[in-house]
This record gives sequence, C-alpha cells and structure tokens, in this order.
Amino acid sequence: MPVSTRTMRAFRLPGPGLVDLDRPEPRGGEVLIRVTAAGLCHSDLYVIDAGGMGFPTPFTLGHEVAGTVASLGPDATGVSPGDPVAIYGPWGCGLCPRCLAGRDNYCDRRAELPWAGLGLGRDGGMADYVLVPSARYLAPIGDLDPAQAAPLTDAGLTPYHAIQRCRPALVAGSTVAVIGVGGLGHLAVQLLRALTPSQVIAVDIREEALALAARCGAHVSLPAAPDAHRQVRKASGGRGADVVLDFAGTDATLELAARSLRADGDLVIVGSGGGHLAIRKPGALPAGSRVSLPFWGTRDELTEVVTLAQAGKLRVEVERFPLSAVTDAIKRLRTGTLHGRAVLAP
Ligand SMILES: [Zn+2]
Ligand SMILES: [Zn+2]
Repeated sequence: MPVSTRTMRAFRLPGPGLVDLDRPEPRGGEVLIRVTAAGLCHSDLYVIDAGGMGFPTPFTLGHEVAGTVASLGPDATGVSPGDPVAIYGPWGCGLCPRCLAGRDNYCDRRAELPWAGLGLGRDGGMADYVLVPSARYLAPIGDLDPAQAAPLTDAGLTPYHAIQRCRPALVAGSTVAVIGVGGLGHLAVQLLRALTPSQVIAVDIREEALALAARCGAHVSLPAAPDAHRQVRKASGGRGADVVLDFAGTDATLELAARSLRADGDLVIVGSGGGHLAIRKPGALPAGSRVSLPFWGTRDELTEVVTLAQAGKLRVEVERFPLSAVTDAIKRLRTGTLHGRAVLAP
C-alpha cells in the first residue's frame, strides 16, 4: 500500500529500483490510473540492461498495464473514476494522421520521439499509479481479471497485430509456424486457433514450452533441432509454412524461419532478438517472400483482443508477484524460471 495518499512506489530506471515518488496530478486531458496489474516483459530486460535503451532517464518501467481510473484532468472525457481499464501502450505524438487513426504504433514522428510509449521512455505502470496522456489510450475491460488484461496489452496485442497483417494467407489448408512459445508465442497459438483454420506448428528449444504450445492448441509441436525446418516442411505436406511468426528474432531462429517458409509466404519478425537475415535476390528466401517487422498494435486491435479474452478465447499463463517483489520477478525472468507471464500487483 502507498505510504501516504500523496506518495506512491515506482520501479525506476536507472537504479536503485523501487522508490517513493509524489503521486502525479492529472492536468488537461490526462487521466490518473490506479494500477491493479503490470506485466513484466522480455523487452524490460533489454531496457534495464541498456540503461534505458537510449530513452532519457529517469522513468518508471512497465508497459503492460491495467488499472482503475483514479481521477481525470479538467479536459479529460470518456471515462469515469472507478472504471476498470487496460492501457494502450505505444504512445505516439498524438497529432499525426496515424495517431489520430489509432495507429500510434506507426506514428509518423516515431523516429524523433524520445519514447516508444508507456514504460518505454515515459513513466509506466510498475507503480501504484500511472498518468496517461489521454483517455483515448484506455480500453474498458469490464470484469476481466486485471492480471489477464495487463499482459494482453502487449503479449496479446503484438501477436494479434502480427496475425492480422497476414490474415489473407491464413486460409483453410494453410500452415503457420510459431517460433518461440513464450509470453507472446503462447498467445499467438491461441489467437491462430481462435481466428483461423490454419494448421499451427509450434517450435521451441524448451520442452515445457512445447507442452504449453500443445495446451494452447498447437497441432504440431517441434523441438528447435538443426533439422527443424525439414520437420516443418514435412508437417506441411512438403511445401513449407505459408506464414512464419518468429517471436525470437535471433540469427538461429531467422535462419530456421527462412528455411521453413513456403514460396509466396510471409516471414513475420516479431521478436527483437537482433538477429540478421540477409535479403538477396536470388538468396535464401523463397520466391515471392514477404518479410515484415510489425511493432505492437493499434488501439482498435487492443479492444478486439480484450473482447476475445472476455469471450474466453484467450488465456494468459500468469505468475503473480506483489510490486515489492519486482526484483525477484526480474531475476526469475532472466533465469527463465517463470511459469508464464510475471504480473506485478501493487
Ligand atoms: Zn513487452
Ligand atoms: Zn503521431
């Protein structure tokens, strides 16, 4: 609990970590959210290890956030105190045509902004309270468990957006390979099963991830062995996968993705593993390949993801931690010993 009504705890970068801060006051169109759940994500590790990843510090981490509306600035409309909400995280400039259309993830001014969004250069939700610039970044969640809603804002939204972009290829008789069945990948498998008639092949190096993939509905689960691309081809009738979603994005997974792809297929690099993929013509990629680098998702898509979860079509594997145990949760994420997504509850 907060020490007093005026202060709050927040997990800040750079260290020392959890500190006491003044609780912010919403001004203009801002909305203050009392955080009920904040997901911990692999990209938080990149941000921590890179000392803020180039964003001006200090700022509070946490880009997967759910909470209830605490108070509104004088110009804020559309929500009321007490409303349970999930926060749309990829805040853009708020003024360009992309932002106005709810596609802040592809803001025209993205390159010049000193932030990528909530908890990524702007104060995030690993805190008792978080200030949101506008009510348009809030998606109502009704009685959905906040510990489910919070991770859905990234771990659900990012694969949903990646899948929406290649929906034309995901028809009956098609095959999709999901490489990496972690926080995002296990939701990708569920989304593919809920939204498409495609055969879903999951690939991972970890046995428990393959078991999770099977529980999430994957038709085939393959260990990421050196011949995994041959297994993907075999499972897809020799053709290769129409769509490959790579949730790792390392040299090894990109090579596997390229070798597993069918001609005229979609290679979707979701994970920011920093791997290299040579694009040459002719080269390793089959004829007609489309390579894409989706980033997060749109505001409308977040609403659609929440609706799917409310209908029982999406279930995040979660391990809960109190906010005071954030350092433990980070350690567990780093050592790969978490059972599902770590969610912090203030
Ligand atoms: Zn994330
Ligand atoms: Zn913009």
